[in-house]
Amino acid sequence: MKYIYAFAEDQTLTNTELGGKGANLAEMTRLGLPVPAGFTITTAACRRYLNADQPDGEFLEGELMKALQRLEAKTDRQFGNPDQPLLVSVRSGAPISMPGMMDTILNLGLNDQTVDGLARKTHNPWFAYDCYRRLIQMFGDVVYGIEKSVFEAELTALKREKQVENDTDLSLADLKQLIQRYQALYQSADNAQFPQSVTEQLNLAVEAVFKSWLNSRAKTYRRLHEIDATMGTAVNIQQMVFGNYQGKSGTGVAFTRNPATGEAGLFGEYLLNAQGEDVVAGIRTPDPISTLSDQLPAIYEQFKGLANQLELHYKDMQDMEFTIEDGQLYVLQTRNGKRTPQAAFKIAVDLVTEGLIDRQTAILRLKPAMIEGVLHPVFDPKALEEATMLVSGLPASPGAATGTIYFDAQQAQRANEAGESVILVRQETSPEDIDGMVVSQAIVTSRGGMTSHAAVVARGMGCCCVVGCSQLSVDAERKQANFNGQILKEGSTISVDGHTGRIYQGALKQQTGKQQTALNTILEWCDEIAPIDVWANAETPKEVATAFEFGAKGLGLVRTEHMFFGPERLFKMREMILADELSDRQVALTALKELQLADFKAIFELAQERPCTIRLLDPPLHEFLPHEEADQIALAKDLQISTDEIKRRIAAKVEVNPMLGHRGSRLAVTYPEIYQMQTLAIMESALAVQLKQGHAITPKIMLPLIGTSNEMDLLRQLLVDTIDEFLEEQGQEMDYHIGTMIEVPRACLVADQIAVSADFFSFGTNDLTQMAFGFSRDDIGHFIGVYEEQQIITKDPFQTIDQDGVGALMQIAIERGRRTKPELSIGVCGEVGGDPDSIAFCQSLGVDYVSCSPYRVPSARLAAGQVAV
Ligand code: ADP
Ligand code: MG
Ligand code: MG
Repeated sequence: MKYIYAFAEDQTLTNTELGGKGANLAEMTRLGLPVPAGFTITTAACRRYLNADQPDGEFLEGELMKALQRLEAKTDRQFGNPDQPLLVSVRSGAPISMPGMMDTILNLGLNDQTVDGLARKTHNPWFAYDCYRRLIQMFGDVVYGIEKSVFEAELTALKREKQVENDTDLSLADLKQLIQRYQALYQSADNAQFPQSVTEQLNLAVEAVFKSWLNSRAKTYRRLHEIDATMGTAVNIQQMVFGNYQGKSGTGVAFTRNPATGEAGLFGEYLLNAQGEDVVAGIRTPDPISTLSDQLPAIYEQFKGLANQLELHYKDMQDMEFTIEDGQLYVLQTRNGKRTPQAAFKIAVDLVTEGLIDRQTAILRLKPAMIEGVLHPVFDPKALEEATMLVSGLPASPGAATGTIYFDAQQAQRANEAGESVILVRQETSPEDIDGMVVSQAIVTSRGGMTSHAAVVARGMGCCCVVGCSQLSVDAERKQANFNGQILKEGSTISVDGHTGRIYQGALKQQTGKQQTALNTILEWCDEIAPIDVWANAETPKEVATAFEFGAKGLGLVRTEHMFFGPERLFKMREMILADELSDRQVALTALKELQLADFKAIFELAQERPCTIRLLDPPLHEFLPHEEADQIALAKDLQISTDEIKRRIAAKVEVNPMLGHRGSRLAVTYPEIYQMQTLAIMESALAVQLKQGHAITPKIMLPLIGTSNEMDLLRQLLVDTIDEFLEEQGQEMDYHIGTMIEVPRACLVADQIAVSADFFSFGTNDLTQMAFGFSRDDIGHFIGVYEEQQIITKDPFQTIDQDGVGALMQIAIERGRRTKPELSIGVCGEVGGDPDSIAFCQSLGVDYVSCSPYRVPSARLAAGQVAV
């Protein structure tokens, strides 16, 4: 088996074998871009190494030496030869990019001899020793697990002793001393030594990168992004180029478009006289890429051209790493850039407009889950005016968050577990902080730029983030931070505006984000091709308005019971339920009807000609009754009956299994007057709105919990008689539809009979799932975790449709229903109506529309569009 390939050696290899970084280095080499030479060890080697009982890199050593010899020939240098030293980087690169989660070592090949060779050859001893001390530092961290901070502390101590501020102010002698101190750290930390044999350096580094696949931050990242944990990482060995060399040297990171907003144009940062991770690590605050055009105009132009070429080639926004060595530009990495959800939509639309991709590709690149991120909250503008700003920094990732501040990841995690809304405030973040970042509402750093670790990770998570707040200094040890003169302790409350980069004192009121134009464009494209419509479940005027703003084509479920919970209504409802005589019930119902009329009018006015499906009263009546003694006494007083009497009447309504009890259409079989009242209220309000607005309205009245065709026939007749009498009285005509929820398993099986009296079906997947499994939705919480753990069930069937069972029932119902009525309109109005996977499945069954809560409408529209491509 061949495990090693030179860049561009074999065109057929992809990310799976070469890792993302390796595949792109190969591709850029093929395109003729200035990429330092190198080769890639495949993921297969990593898997072989990690899967062995006793991990041992020996199987690779021969092939590795040969690859190295070829690299020596190509570069005209030799690994370990002081006269002509070849230095390389050893870089991890997983099949799916996991930025910063695994390890990389630079300047490999330096030892006490070659460092002098490099010094002689470059006539720059300072540079050579700077490379050497960086190698010892990274090698110690990656191979021996000696923390970066231990080395940093040594460096800081030395700078203090020498009374200098910057690394670059240290003298050559200082660097040599630093190297000795570093080597001593190996001794004290691990009783180890920095290997002087360059071959040993290489072998150890490669193995360490293999092992970094299993480090805890990589694991967390994979879990978070649902990345397959068995793939392993590739390792890239590449000739070093030096951004810390001299004069016109530097290193940087750039995106072809702004990863926070999606705006077109080169966006990035660089540092002159710097190497590798200096930019990303947030150690010095870098300069924006635009100033490179003043400092090194020719290089800037060349880089812009390359960036453009890469974007055209990959047809997506690129995230690139580059290094300039003594006036020579090198590209060290490119990948499709991570971006905020907001940027993702804008970029997708722009790429279509620019002709790089077609609409279908654009639609497929977006994920329904991103939409929540686009509708990011913002602070209320009024609240902002009155707020006290503490500091400001770079707006790295949009959003608005209020929470209590913590200065280290573990504290943040603990506070989050205690239920606090947490904001992580740090000097800078590093991959070790990932567990704390995940649980934070916002991340704030005092250092670093728009491409710093904090910024990149936060954007990936859609988490609000502000970086580089220069007026902020964090003292993690003393658990406090100085916000431009104001000291805030751990646990203080601040508000973070990720749109502007401003940090405010205390809590600020928020408003949900306005819809974005790019999002709307994409969703309109989706609507054009979607084979299934998206309606909404809504009942209050506010929800209904939101649903239509978000693009719902109709209302699939207006639950009337929610309308009876206001204090005044609840009283009338209780009066109606507890009435012993029909005449008393009628009085209460008349009052309730007045209230319902107003409810329905408001809905019809907003809906105009869009379909409205109103479901008649569904829950067991006892849900409306008071269970506290004090409330019962008060109610008895209101109703002018004794407390004993009220207790007796309430007790009479108690059921052992209320969800399988006297509810839904069963209520109307015993109390027809309830549905008659609701039906009249629906027709009367629809007629009034139709006359006033001039829109043709066809109310859709929906009967819940039908299980037999006799129920359906009986209740249809009841409603039809009520409506006909009403219309005749009014001397008006109006179309209406009477349909049913399909939520009792039996109804699925006799759907052909039920369809005789039903104008439409709507699957109530919550009840249908509950009854199909025999799982009580309210009690499943006690054991569903164990079911998922033991993989008895892989997904919560109340969130994602159970295709095999509930899905089969639906299929039967659709087939039988349409056997009776081929044109029968069929919808889904349960929780799963907003779930992207379930939407595709529903479409495949022949469902006409799904109906979900207003906030899920946009993501459902995207999912519906994706079904078509
Ligand atoms: P990550 O995946 O964490 O970004 P990389 O392998 O890309 O790690 O390495 C990090 C940085 O190290 C790069 O951005 C680049 O600046 C520097 N680097 C890596 N290889 C080389 C090289 N051959 N020459 C110069 N710099 C390099
Ligand atoms: Mg890195
Ligand atoms: Mg990189």
